[in-house]
Amino acid sequence: MSLIVHKYGGTSMGSPERIRNVARRVTKWARAGHQIVVVPSAMSGETNRLLGLAAELAPARATTEYHRELDMLAATGEQASSALLAIALQAEGMPSVSYAGWQVPVRTDSSHTKARIESIDDQRVRADLDAGRVVIVTGFQGIDELGNITTLGRGGSDTSAVAIAAAMGADECLIYTDVDGVYTTDPRVVPAARRLTTVSFEEMLEMASLGSKVLQIRSVEFAGKYKVPMRVLSSFTPWDIDLAEEAQSGTLITFEEDEKMEQAVVSGIAFNRGEAKVSVLGVPDSPGMAFRILGPVADANIEVDVIIQNISKDGKADFSFTVSQSDFARTLDLLRETVLPELGAKEVVGDPNICKVSIVGIGMRSHVGVASKMFRVLSEEGINIQMISTSEIKTSVVIDEKYLELAVRALHTAFGLDQETA
Ligand code: ADP
Ligand code: ASP
Ligand code: MG
Repeated sequence: MSLIVHKYGGTSMGSPERIRNVARRVTKWARAGHQIVVVPSAMSGETNRLLGLAAELAPARATTEYHRELDMLAATGEQASSALLAIALQAEGMPSVSYAGWQVPVRTDSSHTKARIESIDDQRVRADLDAGRVVIVTGFQGIDELGNITTLGRGGSDTSAVAIAAAMGADECLIYTDVDGVYTTDPRVVPAARRLTTVSFEEMLEMASLGSKVLQIRSVEFAGKYKVPMRVLSSFTPWDIDLAEEAQSGTLITFEEDEKMEQAVVSGIAFNRGEAKVSVLGVPDSPGMAFRILGPVADANIEVDVIIQNISKDGKADFSFTVSQSDFARTLDLLRETVLPELGAKEVVGDPNICKVSIVGIGMRSHVGVASKMFRVLSEEGINIQMISTSEIKTSVVIDEKYLELAVRALHTAFGLDQETA
């Protein structure tokens, strides 16, 4: 008998009919003799609906009190879907019980709306499993040491599922979603994208951090840290397909490199529309300038991504970096009000209409010329590269947002990732 964690995303839980389908699938697994913990997301659209109600009442504020209430609110989405799934399972004749994060408990730190899981007590869940029940634990939420409900950031149910799998020593964590695995790039943007049967943990980590939202990045970090076997697969296959076939479907995240080395140099292309560029122009070129610009940005809790500084002319340099679009206005205000007057720079300008496109592959470690091929492909399409950032297994460029699809498709073809068509 093995212990398996199933996670179902919002679309998979999106209607009573779909919840019934999930219940039947889970019952199939349980009746085959497996102990099953299910981690559902809120029904699709529900988290946005709840957060939208809050925004109607008051503009977003960066205060702990406000974020605490957002967590109280958003956590109800998963509480509802979990109870509905338990009801659907019971209707299938499958004994089942659902728990909110605080009842387990899933303990987190106190960073409301982006809390980190610290520990999970598995006693209650294990007792139910041993009594023959399917146990449902809400995704996306936990409780801090003061008893406040917290949430883990958007897409956080993936992380709940992997963390529960790690805490319980589960044999596998199956992430059921609305696509049938991890693709070479988002199949909704590039129809020629190809499903990967395996992807290395490191590549998955890069793809998630560079914008592929198929898995929340923290879930991949957890899987890597605790070596949780993890698979991404479709919840839209008929619930009664052969279990052995289902268990081998989708994309497996692997921890060994060797078998991958033979494969493509570039395994996937990730992109992120959600960034904005900020430039400080005419910065006096003297020691400490990067710190004097980015220090206050960091103090304001604003995360900076790609950074470039150009060569100075006449003792002045331009300094540019990207931030999340949601931090764009705040960053501009901060730099204009506090940094600009003190620094003696010329002006602060910004561009919210940029995006970041990245090629990812562990094969890049052992191959030269991959980045230059990327730059050539983009230049052949007439796309100007505004910023570049590289690591051992990825190269990212910042370009005008209007070229996003063109860039991703051209790179997808050039690196041989397109599906073979019959
Ligand atoms: P869920 O609600 O199940 O958590 P998400 O919407 O969070 O689902 O993630 C699944 C979506 O991720 C897909 O519908 C797809 O559009 C998108 N996606 C982005 N990049 C990729 C990729 N490389 N492979 C597969 N899906 C991707
Ligand atoms: N319901 C949450 C969200 O929409 C968490 C999740 O679905 O993973 O972000
Ligand atoms: Mg998701």
